[in-house]
Amino acid sequence: MLANYARTRATLGVALLGARPWVGMGRERGMGRERGMGMATMRTAGGHQQGQRGRGRGFARTLAYWAAGTGAAGAALYCVGRDEIEAFDDGEPPAELTLEEGEGYMGYPIVKTARHAGRERLVVLGSGWGAVSLLKTIARDAYDVTVVSPDNYFIFTPLLPSVTVGTVEFRSVLEATRRIVKRTRGAFIEAAAVDVDVERKLVLVEKAGVGRAWVAYDRLVVGVGAQSSAQGATGLEHCHRLKTIGDARGIRQHIMANFERAAMPTTPDPEKRRLLTFVVCGGGPTGCEFAAELYDFLAEDLRHFFPQRLQDMVRVVIVQSQEHILNMMDAAISDFAEHQFRRHNMTVITNARVQSIGDTWLRYSERMPDGTTAEHEIAQGFVLWSTGLAQAPLARVLSDRLGAAQSNRHALTVDAHLRVKGVADGSVYALGDCATVEYPHLLNHIAELFDSAHHAGASAITRAEFAVFVRDAAAKYPATASHLLALERDFDAYDVDASDSIDMSEFEHMLAHVDSKLTALPALAQVASQEGTYLARGLTLLARMYAADDASRQRAAASPDARRGIEAHAVAPFAYHHHGTLAYLGRAAAADFGGGHAYRASNLAAKYMWRSVYWSQQVSLRTRLLLAMDWLKDLIFGRDISRF
Ligand SMILES: Cc1cc2nc3c(=O)[nH]c(=O)nc-3n(C[C@H](O)[C@H](O)[C@H](O)COP(=O)(O)OP(=O)(O)OC[C@H]3O[C@@H](n4cnc5c(N)ncnc54)[C@H](O)[C@@H]3O)c2cc1C
Repeated sequence: MLANYARTRATLGVALLGARPWVGMGRERGMGRERGMGMATMRTAGGHQQGQRGRGRGFARTLAYWAAGTGAAGAALYCVGRDEIEAFDDGEPPAELTLEEGEGYMGYPIVKTARHAGRERLVVLGSGWGAVSLLKTIARDAYDVTVVSPDNYFIFTPLLPSVTVGTVEFRSVLEATRRIVKRTRGAFIEAAAVDVDVERKLVLVEKAGVGRAWVAYDRLVVGVGAQSSAQGATGLEHCHRLKTIGDARGIRQHIMANFERAAMPTTPDPEKRRLLTFVVCGGGPTGCEFAAELYDFLAEDLRHFFPQRLQDMVRVVIVQSQEHILNMMDAAISDFAEHQFRRHNMTVITNARVQSIGDTWLRYSERMPDGTTAEHEIAQGFVLWSTGLAQAPLARVLSDRLGAAQSNRHALTVDAHLRVKGVADGSVYALGDCATVEYPHLLNHIAELFDSAHHAGASAITRAEFAVFVRDAAAKYPATASHLLALERDFDAYDVDASDSIDMSEFEHMLAHVDSKLTALPALAQVASQEGTYLARGLTLLARMYAADDASRQRAAASPDARRGIEAHAVAPFAYHHHGTLAYLGRAAAADFGGGHAYRASNLAAKYMWRSVYWSQQVSLRTRLLLAMDWLKDLIFGRDISRF
């Protein structure tokens, strides 16, 4: 049976890859054409027709191989062109960290990188999306870099749900931080930052079992991410989270353990049903993608290895507090996802809030259409809690240290140059999930903007002046650019008195509209990644500027305000460009490009398109290869169902 299964898999796999079963492939040069003709002979009557079809097949095959070869060469060139980390391994050992002589500070020693002449010390906290994109972009000779992170690897988080069921292996979504840091010839410290002294420019780091030390910096980048929310219901200790590689491993073991326990003939039926009830709390992208991967695992693999009676007992339940799942995406995608999941016999419960969770049960309250609330209980064998994020401990500590300048309880507030508010000289930056960019409220600058928009002496802005104004203002405040540019189109709507010009009160309405449209950037890898790239370019530019212009360097050293001004002038503000959001939905995928542009499809092409996007975003050639091998292995042999 297994042999048959493997053969079916292999044939399916090769067919899906667009190739023929490999038994015939070795002979394609000499014999392939003859084989093609032979087959045509068997099926057709006319010799001429047979020859044509044979030649057609030969041509198609040549074309396919040519396309595959060109694709492979293109992919290789693409990888090298994207500065794969392998391209920077010069075989030299990394920089060494040294201890400063003396007593240290507050009883802890001070650690420093060996300083190169004229370079500042750049310390980066974290090895996630933001930090890694910075490290991959910053000029190699601009700073003496030290990276501090409790994890000595980067996780490609969008594929974590795939790891929970073994579609891809743990190591295929990880890249060692030291390999990434090597590009900058910097140092790495595997420890957690626990405090920052912004006056002395020191970060306190702690490694369990080793102790604490200060790390000295000239500039600090905080990219410590966020942690899974620990609030919203009681009994969260009974739930899994999906944020770390340890979480993914725990989930994988739990799923298999439940199946094995349920398969025991001694396990009573109600207990089997409970063990095979998987509940996902939260209908956001992570919860939905996990549910989709779980469905694939059941539908493609476990059904071959567990009795039908057990399969019939499996239940996947998504509990979502909002009216729809994936509610942050286009409404068409939410509908599609719900339809898709229901088609796969998953239970989607919306307008429901989980209240409490025990080791074998989960209680939730459901808002009914008539406004009343109904209480329900589910016997469960597994719960994933995926409902939101909370501030990382280090970000909270830094926020508390900076006092009134940091009033947001969820993230560090940064200005448009990603500088943490409250640090006088602007030497501390934050990016990714731990930071939130403070938008410039245009209404606060209304007088200045109005004056800059019209001719001196006039009391209103003409249509022609307005066109120039929106372009200038969009360049100055890039975060508001798309909303400002849209105002030009709506000029007539705001020109209430139809004077073909905008007076002060009409202008105020316009700016209030733009301000109301600005929302915090989402906690997404692409936000963190764009911020990392932006910061790397900005920091490189500053290093080059100070190296070439001693007068600026001296002015900046003279006062924190002067330094902030010089650097804000030299580096343009950060502007985020949304490239769309992807979601995998179990043999289906959806992409939301914003502005009402949504793509969704439930076929294998969608699945492979989704995979190819993530494949192209890998940080290294090594993970690209590992991923490709995992997907091929999955296609041919299925997922690994062993538990260890
Ligand atoms: C399962 C899952 C799926 C996701 N899918 C997508 C997706 O498909 N698309 C998308 O755009 N986004 C996705 N995201 C969100 C995305 O992963 C985050 O937005 C992104 O990781 C944020 O990057 P970051 O650099 O801010 O933080 P992270 O990538 O979380 O990195 C934080 C780093 O800081 C380190 N750190 C923590 N504390 C300390 C400390 N005290 N000192 C030093 N270092 C510390 C951590 O070890 C880690 O290396 C997903 C997230 C998850 C969990």
